[in-house]
Amino acid sequence: MGTAVDRYREGCRKGELRLFRCSSCGALEAFARDFCPRCGAPDPVSVSAGGRGVVAAITVAHIAPSPEYRALVPYGICLIDLDEGVRVMGNCAPGLAVGDRVALSFAERGDAHLLQFTSTGDEDR
Ligand SMILES: [Zn+2]
Repeated sequence: MGTAVDRYREGCRKGELRLFRCSSCGALEAFARDFCPRCGAPDPVSVSAGGRGVVAAITVAHIAPSPEYRALVPYGICLIDLDEGVRVMGNCAPGLAVGDRVALSFAERGDAHLLQFTSTGDEDR
């Protein structure tokens, strides 16, 4: 079955964001770990997220952290509250605003799969 990180990466390759639910206390986590951060129980179960959420915070990067990012600036870095109730960080267009509804896609960059959020255009806030 592999480690939580293996399962997370396998999900990304399939275009699926995996969250981790503790089979002991039920806590849901976005960060791939092999134990529950709340109660310490081992082997959380991976569950597939719907990929929809709301922008909780956004900042815009104007300076590239490394050469691969130079062509991308300025780009947005956002915190998204997923409908499942967990918060994840991702990239987005600079024009998003707090409260906007967003949908997830994956951007491949080398070995990494970055979470990319775009506005769904929904007005329900
Ligand atoms: Zn737990």
